[in-house]
Amino acid sequence: MSRTVLRLAHAIRTLEGAGFEVRRPFPTRSLEHVDPFLLLDEMGPAELGPGEARGAPDHPHRGFETVTYLLAGRMVHRDSQGNSGILGPGDVQWMTAGDGVVHSEMPEAAFAARGGRMHGFQLWVNLPRRDKRMKPRYQDVPSARIPTAEADGVRARVIAGEAIGEKAVIDTRTPILYVHYTLEPGARTVQPVTVGWAVFAYVFGGEGQVGADARVVRDGQMAVFTDEGDEVAVACPAGAREPLQALLIGGLPLREPMARYGPFVMNTEAEVREAIEDYRAGRLGRID
Ligand code: FE
Repeated sequence: MSRTVLRLAHAIRTLEGAGFEVRRPFPTRSLEHVDPFLLLDEMGPAELGPGEARGAPDHPHRGFETVTYLLAGRMVHRDSQGNSGILGPGDVQWMTAGDGVVHSEMPEAAFAARGGRMHGFQLWVNLPRRDKRMKPRYQDVPSARIPTAEADGVRARVIAGEAIGEKAVIDTRTPILYVHYTLEPGARTVQPVTVGWAVFAYVFGGEGQVGADARVVRDGQMAVFTDEGDEVAVACPAGAREPLQALLIGGLPLREPMARYGPFVMNTEAEVREAIEDYRAGRLGRID
C-alpha cells in the first residue's frame, strides 16, 4: 500500500552558529520533531564572497547523532576527542555524539578566504535510551563511497538504508533511511518503507508530487507521510523546468520520553541538568 501525505510543513529561515542562514523544516512552532528525528537544517545554498563563510564554533552535544551531508563548499570538523576531518561536496559525516563531545564545524580556511557556493544539510537523529551515553563515534564517508543508483531519470544517493537495490555503507544505531533523490522531469520512483516508520520528504529544488495522492511539494517544503503503508511514491511532473531534488528520510520511532535543551537531548530533565553540569565542568572535553 502506498502512503499518503499526512501534513505539509514549510521551512523557516533562521540563523545558526556564528550567523549562517539555514532553511529549517523542523523544529518549528508547528512541527517540533518527527520521532526519531530532532532537526533538519539546510545550509544555504548561498553564494559567499571572500571572508563571508560562517561556521559553528566550539559547542557540545550529548544524547543524539548529527549527520552532515555537504553538496557544495568545504567544512572542517574538530572535536574534543582529537578527531578532525574535512568535508567536501557529496561527503557525509555521521557523528554519534552519545556521551558527549565538544566540536566545531567551520568553513575550511582556503574556501572561506576564496568564497564560493555553500550548500548542505544537517540532520539530528535521536538516540534510544540505551545509546544516549555510548562512546562517541564517527563515520566519515567520502562522496565516492556513497552508493549511488540510477534508473529511468531517477538518481538515488543512499546515505542510510537501501534504495533501487543499493545498500548504504553507514551503520546506524536504529533503523534509518536517508536517500538523496534527483528526478528528471517526468521521472517517478517508489521507495519501499517499513510500516510504522516515520517518513518524510524534504524538497530543496524543483517541485515534486509525492504520496499516493500526488501532493505537490515545492522547494522548501516537507511532506510528512502517514505511518501506514509500505511504500512512498515520488515523482517530478513531466512539464517541470528543472529536476526535483529531495531528501527522503525515515526511521523507526523511539517512542521514549524526551527532555531537550539545545544541544542536549536526553530522556529526563535530571539527565539534561547533568549534561549541562558535565559540560560546564569540562567533562565533555575541550578542543586543543
Ligand atoms: Fe554540532
